[in-house]
Amino acid sequence: MHNMKPALKLQEIRYQTQMRLPGFGATGQFALHNASIACVGLGGLGSPACLYLSAAGVGTLGLIDGDRVDRSNLHRQILFNNNDVGRLKVEAARDRLLAQNPDTQIEAFSCDLAPSNATEFLSGFDLILDCTDNFGANYLINDAAAQLKKPVIYASVSQYEGRLAAFDSTQSACLRCLYPAPPKNLVLNCAQAGVLGPVVGTMGTLQANLALEFLLAQASGTSFNRLGRLFVFDLKTMAMSSFGVPKNSACTICSRPPEEIILRKSDEVSAEELATLLKQGGVGILDVREDWEFAEYHLPGSILWPLRQLENGEFPELDDSKTWIICCAHGVRSLRALELFQENSAKKKKALKHLRGGLSAFRSRVLD
Ligand SMILES: [Zn+2]
Repeated sequence: MHNMKPALKLQEIRYQTQMRLPGFGATGQFALHNASIACVGLGGLGSPACLYLSAAGVGTLGLIDGDRVDRSNLHRQILFNNNDVGRLKVEAARDRLLAQNPDTQIEAFSCDLAPSNATEFLSGFDLILDCTDNFGANYLINDAAAQLKKPVIYASVSQYEGRLAAFDSTQSACLRCLYPAPPKNLVLNCAQAGVLGPVVGTMGTLQANLALEFLLAQASGTSFNRLGRLFVFDLKTMAMSSFGVPKNSACTICSRPPEEIILRKSDEVSAEELATLLKQGGVGILDVREDWEFAEYHLPGSILWPLRQLENGEFPELDDSKTWIICCAHGVRSLRALELFQENSAKKKKALKHLRGGLSAFRSRVLD
């Protein structure tokens, strides 16, 4: 897979400053050169993470993202510039990263990570960076990493608060030990909750830092002692706290042998699948955004039912003869809504799914 890698030029001035660090040297630089890291998600986290990893001389980067560059993301997605708007993120990222360091091998997959492709996409890499922004993807990456027995570096941002953790389910807890279900306060993604570029950028940078730390520890045979620890940063007060995540003996993923882990789809449809369903008919749309978002744009025939109503225990009456698709702006609130239905036995429905990537994915991929 990585046989086209150019030889490492140790004399290259590019790496001299980092190689001077104690514990780095030629051994460290070779380790980076021979390493391959998968970055899932090229948003506010993935942007600085990939830039720093390629700049540092990580030999192979795998980029996985199905989206296109959107102008509303440019304030935090510093991999991209104005001229990239509308381009596939993986293609624009490849150009930018090769301009940064032409020796990086880039493997680009322009699609969303899904249960059907996760094993294939991730199996060739030494380490996985989870730079996605929703729990559906976080869980899928966690489960695939556990199945493949690979370490994963997770980060998330909620307004001014960032969370960072490295997991390797063969040696530590996993993300599902920490969050068996998506926590209510972390459900909104950046686009909905609002975020400053440097806040999410700090977390992506820390992911890159942890990745380099992991590779250097491996190269020098020292232990990487960050596994199974959650770091919480408050970028408003500059406070940082950390705590160990205990392994949950009842964890649905890491308590079982890797070969028994099955990657599951969280009852979701893609934008393209929704377009087909709408053409076929017999589908109802439950829109869980706020009134003002609904007023701006909604799919014809949708029912507006903001997420907070579901959280207050108010559920709509849904016609059982239809398949219902819950949608929101980016697929985060809709996943939470789906879980609220599933948790409520009286309201549980078989034919209920949510729209992955939300209406923004639908509008950019189907309507364009
Ligand atoms: Zn676990």
